[in-house]
Amino acid sequence: MQGQAYIGRFAPSPSGPLHFGSLIAALGSYLRARSQQGKWLVRIEDIDPPREVAGASTLILSTLEAYGLYWDDTELYQSTRLNVYEAKLQQLLADEQAYFCQCTRKQIQAMPDSYDGRCARLHPPLTHGAIRIKNTAAIAQFHDQLMGNVSVDKAFAEEDFIIKRRDGLYAYQLAVVMDDAFQGITEVVRGSDLLTSSARQISLFQQFHAPVPEWLHLPLACDAPGHKLSKQNHAQAIDNKAPQQSIQAALGFLGQAKVDIDAPEIMLKQAVEQFDLAAIPQQQEILL
Ligand SMILES: [Zn+2]
Repeated sequence: MQGQAYIGRFAPSPSGPLHFGSLIAALGSYLRARSQQGKWLVRIEDIDPPREVAGASTLILSTLEAYGLYWDDTELYQSTRLNVYEAKLQQLLADEQAYFCQCTRKQIQAMPDSYDGRCARLHPPLTHGAIRIKNTAAIAQFHDQLMGNVSVDKAFAEEDFIIKRRDGLYAYQLAVVMDDAFQGITEVVRGSDLLTSSARQISLFQQFHAPVPEWLHLPLACDAPGHKLSKQNHAQAIDNKAPQQSIQAALGFLGQAKVDIDAPEIMLKQAVEQFDLAAIPQQQEILL
């Protein structure tokens, strides 16, 4: 990282208010960035309208502010980037680095390991359907700043995965990689539920000839063994009016020393000064 300014990010999807699990990701990425005198950006991942909740983006941003988690630059909304994603897809199709696939869920389930690439071999090629990347830069192992060497299933890593869905929505992997590259992100800090996604994203960075960021996967907050907090299982929203307790609890979860109870900005300032990467506990159990 020497000679290169640190740029980190927090990238929530507006599918509900922030809960304790998302606070961990926000705070962890914030502390890491600020302790490196780096930038901390916020990106709203709003490219899945059916899963979005009206007003959630505004609520997320006001919660970050209430917690003293001020970001640099203007927040980026993925919904403003659809033309860029589409142009990239068209270029990948033209370069035969991607192809259409019309396989049904049933056909895919009948394949032995993962998707077998059969639609790539059709002549003439299909002209509509889902779009898959021709995965020529697959990686099954990568370095995590906290977990060390991480391995994912080889068949999973090598799969020609979907970069545009059959329903016309841009796939998470494509949008995230294009935006991390666009924003110059040097390190991705997020929950370890995205560990396998990281392997796929590294292969896309490589295939796009974009610099690959570093990775740091934080442990996940669970409300029961093996049951992570998420918007999908209706984790409770964190309280905008009493951020001090949640900040202290999140610091404790991340293995960080307590700070003096004060205004959130002052608590965070102390937390940045005290930040100790090595004290963050590792995820013991991989939750996928
Ligand atoms: Zn297919």
